[in-house]
Amino acid sequence: MDAAMPDKDVDSTVFLVNREHKISEDYIPEVRKTNVYGMSQSMRSDAAAALEEMFKAAKDESKISLATVSGYRSYSKQSTIYSRKKKTLGSVDKADALVALPGASEHQLGMAMDVAQRGSSQLNSGFGKTKGGKWVSENAHRFGFIVRYPLGQEEITGYAYEPWHVRYLGKEYAKAIYQAGVPMEVFISAHRLEIYEFLIHAVEDEVLP
Ligand SMILES: [Zn+2]
Repeated sequence: MDAAMPDKDVDSTVFLVNREHKISEDYIPEVRKTNVYGMSQSMRSDAAAALEEMFKAAKDESKISLATVSGYRSYSKQSTIYSRKKKTLGSVDKADALVALPGASEHQLGMAMDVAQRGSSQLNSGFGKTKGGKWVSENAHRFGFIVRYPLGQEEITGYAYEPWHVRYLGKEYAKAIYQAGVPMEVFISAHRLEIYEFLIHAVEDEVLP
């Protein structure tokens, strides 16, 4: 795989996965079941612990019951989902916009979870307008997660708006990305150039009319 990044960094919580940066077919993280309401799903243990903390806070602070829908997925599971979508939609382009190609999904990292409100396992853009969706978008960073595919950033992330898909990065980075208000791709580029502090301050210093 030409676009594959070296696997030596793949365990880092800021490892970037997208259409250009794919994960090796052989990469299998160590995962455990998340201990929250919803479908029985797994994540890396650091991400799982953070998710459990987030679900509890949603409940305690705002009486919001979140549910897990889909967490860790192996390369071969992703292959199956992608092929099925391509068949249903009858178009590679349409399938590509909605489902990650095998190796291009954060779910293979064990650091992503698709969440829904309790009682609904529907993953659609409507989630962003629900109480739960709004809470996730405003609070996920406090627990080390970001809403990875924000509205209006499709050109950069390569994926349609997915208010339900959260990616674990650890609190420091999740907060920085949330504050910068940029997609992970932009943040990582800036971080590599060590200018992310500038990005954050640029947002803070913005003078509103
Ligand atoms: Zn997802």
